[in-house]
Amino acid sequence: EKEALKVLKDAKSISKDGHQVELAGNIGTPNDVEGVLNNGGEGVGLYRTEFLYMNSDHFPTEDEQFEAYKTVLENMNGRKVVVRTLDIGGDKTLPYFTFPEEMNPFLGYRAIRLCLDRTDIFRTQLRALIRASVYGHLCIMFPMIATVKEFRDAKAIYNEEKANLIKEGVSVADNIEVGMMVEIPAAAVNADNFAKEADFFSIGTNDLIQYTMAADRMSEHVSYLYQPYNPSVLRLIKMTIDGAHKEGKWAGMCGEMAGEPYAAAILLGLGLDEFSMSATSILKARRMINSLNKKEMEAVAEKALSFATAEEVLDYIKKIVD
Ligand code: PEP
Ligand code: MG
Repeated sequence: EKEALKVLKDAKSISKDGHQVELAGNIGTPNDVEGVLNNGGEGVGLYRTEFLYMNSDHFPTEDEQFEAYKTVLENMNGRKVVVRTLDIGGDKTLPYFTFPEEMNPFLGYRAIRLCLDRTDIFRTQLRALIRASVYGHLCIMFPMIATVKEFRDAKAIYNEEKANLIKEGVSVADNIEVGMMVEIPAAAVNADNFAKEADFFSIGTNDLIQYTMAADRMSEHVSYLYQPYNPSVLRLIKMTIDGAHKEGKWAGMCGEMAGEPYAAAILLGLGLDEFSMSATSILKARRMINSLNKKEMEAVAEKALSFATAEEVLDYIKKIVD
C-alpha cells in the first residue's frame, strides 16, 4: 500500500473528469516543510505561526520572524505558502504575556481580536511577512475573523506596513494574497460580502464545527456534537465556497476535515479549490480525489446537503465511495 501511494507523490490532484485541485500541507515550524514535500504536498495551506511565539521566551523579533518565513518560502520553491497571523488565546497562552481572565477564552480575547488591539505585535509580524514575500508565493491570512470591519482594519494595517517598507526601500513581492480564515459561522453566512474584499478563504473546520454546534472542541463530554458531517456545517461550507466563487476568489480548507477521505468527496462536489491537511494524509487524499468524478460528486454533494442528520450524510457518502 505504501508503494502504491508513493507513485502518487508527483502526480496531479485531478478528478477523473479533469477537474484539478490543490492538496497542501499544514505546518507548525519551518522543519515541517520537508514532510510536506516528501508526501507530495503542492503547497503549504496553513502555517500556524503561533509556535514561533510559544517556543520563545519573548515576542519574536521582526528579524527572528523574517528568518522563519523566508526559510519556509524558499524551501517551498515558489509553491503557495499560506501563513496565518498570530492565533493565540483560547487554549494557547504565552509565558511572557498576561491574558485577561475570561469565563470563555474560546469566545474571548484571541487571534485577530488581540492583534487589532495590540497592533504593535501585529505590525511586527506583518513587516516580517512582507519582507519575506520576495522569496516565494506568500498568502497571508487572518484568523478568527467575524466581521467585515475586522478584515478591513487588519488589511489597512497590512497596507500601511507594506507602504512603510516600500518607502524604506525594501523590495516587496507584487503577488502577495491577503485572505482570511472562515471559522466563525458569522463569516461563513456573510461570505459573499467578505469575498469582495478578501483574496481567498480558508475554512477552519476545527473551530467552525465548535462554534456552529456550540460544543467545545476539547471536551469529551460533548464530543458527540463534534460533527463534521452535520448538514448545518456542510451548508456553511457551501455558502463559503459559493461566496468566494461568486467573486472569482479561491476557497480552501485547512481544518482536519480537509484530510478525511469521505469528506473529500463532498468537498470536491462543492467545488473546494484547495485542501490542506497533515502531511501524512496527502497521498491518501490524492488517491481519493483522483478516483472520483467531479460532475458526479456535485450531485452527491447536493444530495448530502439535503439530509437532516450527520448519520444520514455519512451513511450515504460511505455507500457512494466505498
Ligand atoms: C481550524 O480552526 O480549523 C484551524 C485550522 O485552526 P486551529 O486548529 O489552529 O484552530
Ligand atoms: Mg482555528
